[in-house]
Amino acid sequence: MPLQVVQPRIRGFISLTAHPEGCAVNVRAQIEVARTLRAHAPGPRTVLVIGSSTGYGLASLLASAFGYGSQVLGICFERAPEGDKGATAGWYNLAEAHRLARAEGLHIETINGDAFSQAVKTDAIAALRERFGAVDLVVYSLAAPRRTDAQGVTWQSTLKPIGAPYTGKSVDLRSGTVTEISLDAATPEEIEGTVQVMGGADWADWITALRDADLLAEGARTVAYSYVGPRATQDIYRHGTIGRAKEHLEATRQALHEMLHAHCRGGAWVSVNKAVVTQASAAIPGVVLYMSILFKLMKARGTHEGPIEQIVRLYRDHLRPGIEPHVDAAGLIRLDDLELAPEVQAAVDEIWDRITPENFDELGDYAAYRAYFHELFGFAWPGIDYDAPTEINRPLV
Ligand code: NAD
Repeated sequence: MPLQVVQPRIRGFISLTAHPEGCAVNVRAQIEVARTLRAHAPGPRTVLVIGSSTGYGLASLLASAFGYGSQVLGICFERAPEGDKGATAGWYNLAEAHRLARAEGLHIETINGDAFSQAVKTDAIAALRERFGAVDLVVYSLAAPRRTDAQGVTWQSTLKPIGAPYTGKSVDLRSGTVTEISLDAATPEEIEGTVQVMGGADWADWITALRDADLLAEGARTVAYSYVGPRATQDIYRHGTIGRAKEHLEATRQALHEMLHAHCRGGAWVSVNKAVVTQASAAIPGVVLYMSILFKLMKARGTHEGPIEQIVRLYRDHLRPGIEPHVDAAGLIRLDDLELAPEVQAAVDEIWDRITPENFDELGDYAAYRAYFHELFGFAWPGIDYDAPTEINRPLV
């Protein structure tokens, strides 16, 4: 069994290494929060989570399995350990989730492959048919740079403004200082590519495939995750290429809602979630600076939440069987209500306008952001001896 000392090897918004025991601690901490859902049972019996290994999808898997006792099939795209090469953080997260599920008599399975492909959809349908039965809840939580569609066309996702170039504040992740970035406006092809990857097309393919396989239980629900965000990032986020994709996702919801209602008296929702530190959000220009400001303000108000707190709230207040989700005028579940509270956003705006490299440490909390970022990869967790060798070959039992 390969024992190794694992240290962070950060390159921009990714760590090339992940600490298995740190990832396990992260998962156990989230499970503690997930267990609070037991007081709000029953939950869905069978859950499919597409994008189950990190971020909001991992939180959805943990809340389902350890909160409600649901059986969960998860889909993700992670690197397994091989020889003396360690796995990705998402793999180690799931290794711990599988280990604990087995110890507690819960049923979690994972398909590690490209969720956009027909092959993985076919495998998922076979697994559901053979070992799970029809699904009550489908969580769609993919964040991906590219997608090859059913016709074999490969689309790339881009993070760019639309209509005009963008110049704005950001954080240089290498030096940890405030800097200015400039981005060209997206071409029509880049807009289309982003919509094809991060819009609703693949979500619709999944739900249609499950319906055609007769694997949607009576009253089956599906939810996909979206983001709106603040004024400070709107040129790059909500009014940019990724915002266009989210509009497509939100429009797809309507069609899926009607389809599910007609098919099994179910429904489809989009939940607009809060900004949290994940591998996906770390890659978005301006968002790291925004989170460094936002988290400090929300912590001071006692309203800060991470992915698991958000998903526990989503399940408890909106998605559990027997209750109707509360939606805004556009039909969206708004878990970003505390983030977008007017007094929070007024404070963000005020700080954003006057933040500079000189006052960044005082006005923002980049140290907290960095700690969250390291935690994603299993680093910076208290109680772990990072100089000690650890087992890197951890299977999904
Ligand atoms: P993440 O990077 O933490 O997770 C992405 C997941 O997708 C991982 O499980 C990964 O393995 C999986 N994945 C990626 N490509 C795949 C593929 N081809 N096949 C199978 N699995 C694949 O991302 P996240 O931040 O949790 O984002 C999930 C969703 O939540 C996205 O729709 C995102 O826009 C939304 N969201 C994120 C935030 C935020 O601040 N992070 C806020 C609101 C909404």
